[in-house]
Amino acid sequence: MVDLRPGFCRCGCGNHTAKHFVPGHNQRLRGELARSYSRAKRVAVRQPLGPPQLVAAPEAADLLGPEWLAWVAPEVEVLRTVRSNIAEAAIADFEAEWGDL
Ligand SMILES: [Zn+2]
Repeated sequence: MVDLRPGFCRCGCGNHTAKHFVPGHNQRLRGELARSYSRAKRVAVRQPLGPPQLVAAPEAADLLGPEWLAWVAPEVEVLRTVRSNIAEAAIADFEAEWGDL
């Protein structure tokens, strides 16, 4: 589980912490997310408000930051970079033809 409530360890263990993780629990969560991703299992995400929701592992990783997405689902991160490069090329073409946006 990913716990995004302020003051709680993000790994979902329920421990209180002033930082994002109880020491060592970031590795635990990284492992959990990577396993979920490789098995195509969804992950529970607890936002500050509302009940936990199940999301795809890359989505859960993305909520924790871009480096998490790169750790957990490197293929997704690579695809996203390729897509944004394609988008940038398309914008450059458009600007070359029509001027700055
Ligand atoms: Zn924890």
